[in-house]
Amino acid sequence: MHDDRSADMTIPGGRRQRLARVVQRMGLLQPLAAALSVFGSGQLRILAYHRVLTEPVEDFSFDLELVSAWAECFREQMIHLRKHFHPMRFDEVLAILQARRRLPANAVLVTFDDGYEDNHRVAFPILRDLDLSAMFFVATGHIDSGRPYLYDWLVHGLCVTKAGRVEIPELELDVPLPASLDGRRAVAAGVLDRVKALRESTQSILVRRIVAQLGVPVPDRDGGCRPMSWQNLREMRDGGMEIGSHGVHHRMLAKLPASLMKAELVESRRRMEVELGAPARVLSYPVGGHDAFDPEVIAAARAAGYEMACTYIAGTSRPGPHSQFALRRLPVERCMDQAWFEAVLAWPGLFIHRSRRRDASWIGSQPAAT
Ligand SMILES: [Zn+2]
Repeated sequence: MHDDRSADMTIPGGRRQRLARVVQRMGLLQPLAAALSVFGSGQLRILAYHRVLTEPVEDFSFDLELVSAWAECFREQMIHLRKHFHPMRFDEVLAILQARRRLPANAVLVTFDDGYEDNHRVAFPILRDLDLSAMFFVATGHIDSGRPYLYDWLVHGLCVTKAGRVEIPELELDVPLPASLDGRRAVAAGVLDRVKALRESTQSILVRRIVAQLGVPVPDRDGGCRPMSWQNLREMRDGGMEIGSHGVHHRMLAKLPASLMKAELVESRRRMEVELGAPARVLSYPVGGHDAFDPEVIAAARAAGYEMACTYIAGTSRPGPHSQFALRRLPVERCMDQAWFEAVLAWPGLFIHRSRRRDASWIGSQPAAT
């Protein structure tokens, strides 16, 4: 769910990383952040994560692109937020906006998309220890199913299969599978890109067939990439976390017929009310780029009762009546070290990371434009 790179006006990733280290070594990051907060007051920084795992696992066979940070890095990042910024909850931000008051300087929010079980197992305890809150956007249909995500299973199948090659006539693809895990990951990334270019209804059938053909067991509830349960979410809610909507089936709302689009918004909210006792107030558009939402989607989201919505367009926003349903976020990715992370927060406009991929590996996503 990442922004398109056409809007990338900043310097490339590697150079951003190096510049961030230099600025940090010179002790300039915090003075820079303080100076910029004068000009950027009212700007809301919203960090966007997907998965946080305990440690680098050599034989990790799921989609590595979705691991935003390892646990220890995540803890360091959260400590930095506590020390130098003003972490908030969405309900606090909403209360301030409703009262037409100004946001505090350096306001920051932490969000997670997609609802992987590691959000509960790894990220939640760290947040609770540090007395921080975060918003977890979940697709209610996936929480209901309890099953691993099919795209993840496809990557896993290609990484662990004993088959020597993969043959997918529908994609005009017939390639040998390399012995190394890195080589297989590269093949898997290519297959995934081509699967995502297919119509949504075709994708699910094809992925199931490929996984079966690879001789890898059918996804079950303990696949290492499964979603959180409603019980996990209730625990997190009781532990001070916020739960928001990411639709029902993680479909790109702007690409759906109006009736289906509205149903995704209404049903997801209703399901949360049943399971969590309150409907979601905040929405994160699945996929989240410029083509994931439009004025019709925004109007439907308002009508369904949402009060705020996040995109995956990279940047910061000054929330107000017009921008409140198109809030930009700051993606956090594994390739960012602590210096880069701190630089992104200090000076988002220069150091922001615009990732290669636009969204989680989901059945239900439409083809990415980049
Ligand atoms: Zn997503």
